[in-house]
Amino acid sequence: MGMITDKERIDEALELLWVLEEEGHREVDRFSLSSDDADVSSLIETLKEDGLAAVAEGDIHLTEKGRKIARGLIRRQRLAERLFTDVFEMPENTVLDDACKMEHILSEELTESVCIFLGHPPTCPHGKPIPRGECCKKLKVEVAPVVTRLSEFEVGATGKITFIVPSDPSRISKLNSLGITAGSVIKFLQRIPSCVLQIDETTVALDPEIAKEIYLKKIVK
Ligand SMILES: [Zn+2]
Ligand SMILES: [Zn+2]
Repeated sequence: MGMITDKERIDEALELLWVLEEEGHREVDRFSLSSDDADVSSLIETLKEDGLAAVAEGDIHLTEKGRKIARGLIRRQRLAERLFTDVFEMPENTVLDDACKMEHILSEELTESVCIFLGHPPTCPHGKPIPRGECCKKLKVEVAPVVTRLSEFEVGATGKITFIVPSDPSRISKLNSLGITAGSVIKFLQRIPSCVLQIDETTVALDPEIAKEIYLKKIVK
């Protein structure tokens, strides 16, 4: 680790407070033990002075101001994790460090594009909730996600496969032999009990677990 700026120290602290609150912990001691900071007491003083956290009766919690910043940081971090695992296919256990750096370079606009691109994912690869953004709210009324998983695709709709993220890499050639590959145009016929799709004249049934790993873009006629 190189030089740590004040901003980074504070960002790290805000993220930690968010995560601890998610887990139901507000104890100052818990925060101090979990923090990597070299001087936790001065860190807590700074958080108080900046109006980002409040301390009372052995508990520490985010103020409204602190929560707003933490929310944005966590959102960017968890979206970055999704981007790395879903799109770049990096193993889940290695993405967190890179995602931690990414959250500081993802701009607000880029964050929104990533969220839309990924179809407004509700959780990070570790199953932690991704705080919703403006784009996620708008989704309901006006914007459809650019890319959706086949398992969540609209029955009866036609789509073009954008990418496949197999949990087992050997699956790719099997899927390719069925004509399921990036660029293929398919029609989605059925979701339950198995996902059935049509490619040219062929009908293929897929396990929903596999359908989750195929991402496609709807073709609007
Ligand atoms: Zn995560
Ligand atoms: Zn979104």
